[in-house]
Amino acid sequence: MEYPHVHETDSQVAAALDAEVERQRDTLSMIASENHVSPAVMEAQGSALTNKYAEGYPGERYYAGCENADEVEQLAIERAKELWGAEHVNVQPHSGTQANQAVYFSVLEPGDKILSLDLNHGGHLSHGHKANFAGQLYDVQQYEVDPETGYVDYDGLRDHAESFDPDIVVSGYSAYPREVEWERIQSVAEAVDAYHLSDIAHITGLVAAGVHQSPVGVSDFVTGSTHKTIRAGRGGIVMCGEEHADAIDASVFPGGQGGPLMHNVAGKAVGFREALEPAFREYAEQVVDNAAALAESLADNGFHVVSGGTDTHLVLVDLRDSHPDISGGTAEEALTEAGIVLNGNTVPGETRSPFDPSGIRAGTAGLTTRGFGEAELREVGDLIYRVVDNHDDESVIAEVSDRVDELTAAFPLYEGDDDFPTPE
Ligand SMILES: *Cc1c(COP(=O)(O)O)cnc(C)c1O
Repeated sequence: MEYPHVHETDSQVAAALDAEVERQRDTLSMIASENHVSPAVMEAQGSALTNKYAEGYPGERYYAGCENADEVEQLAIERAKELWGAEHVNVQPHSGTQANQAVYFSVLEPGDKILSLDLNHGGHLSHGHKANFAGQLYDVQQYEVDPETGYVDYDGLRDHAESFDPDIVVSGYSAYPREVEWERIQSVAEAVDAYHLSDIAHITGLVAAGVHQSPVGVSDFVTGSTHKTIRAGRGGIVMCGEEHADAIDASVFPGGQGGPLMHNVAGKAVGFREALEPAFREYAEQVVDNAAALAESLADNGFHVVSGGTDTHLVLVDLRDSHPDISGGTAEEALTEAGIVLNGNTVPGETRSPFDPSGIRAGTAGLTTRGFGEAELREVGDLIYRVVDNHDDESVIAEVSDRVDELTAAFPLYEGDDDFPTPE
């Protein structure tokens, strides 16, 4: 992965780009929303399509010379339809947040009511947090997970919906380790005559591969990010039934965006093509098996794993039981020093703050892309525990860091011709 032209033009940015490739190579990327895309996706994202204005949609653009943009966008749409089985797909949202914005703008008026999961319980800013446009434009109330089980409190959600009478119910989360029961939430939405948006940002790849049940055809709208488990490069996507197709398209452009990032749409098309291969299903299965192995290892070591395990790619640890004096931020710092990159995260019943929360969140999408299996994830769970438990002992951190070097060397990334291993 080399950038000769950037080196020629701008040595400062070139140095940072090289350092970033090295950072990803030499550390364990366990931020649950991240992954490593293939060199093919990166080439597409770095292509000449970045120069092209293509406002509008395939066959109906506002500018001349869009024939190649049309081809690429049409391929991305067709492949997305095949992957997720949606009637209508819009691949233009710049990110998952813009995808959600497009849905809100298509069916809500300012002041309308959103019922979504609390951010501390695993929700997302774009589901109506005060710091986000959604929290400022709409009247938002939030449901929670059951503090005992860590699972969505579906009965509580039903009661809340009956008293609040929302216009839209939002399902799909950022830090929720369990399979979501879309049908159950759909029945709540129907009972109060609300729309239902399922935001599968994190689990797009798991749903496409059939290792998590799909909300497509159940909910009114399904949104996602394309850079998380689906591994198709940075961006967003909206899926819906034919009845909402025109409203969604108008809401994305011209409603909320200008010209689409056609180079990113090309990245999505290539990533979706890769995800249609049988190897991607094996990859997604391995992601989930790896997360289960990680959760088991973390729990065996003595951590409180929220909900007792995982059905997905991510594990959430509440540090308050095992290490009440260590915050998620402190744990994150010590782990980063050891070469294990994950994030401090809020947990259900949070008693600290979002800036220095009580938990850590880890995902297996990136490590699985590198070829890590369950034995490695079990060991990574041991390493995480050792670091957190000895967070101020430099010699332990150095030992773990050496082991991380061995593991990353054994599973190379972006090196040579075989720089992007896929599971066998
Ligand atoms: C990551 C995420 C998003 C979108 O994030 P972007 O950074 O805007 O792509 C939306 N919803 C949920 C639940 C997420 O986890």
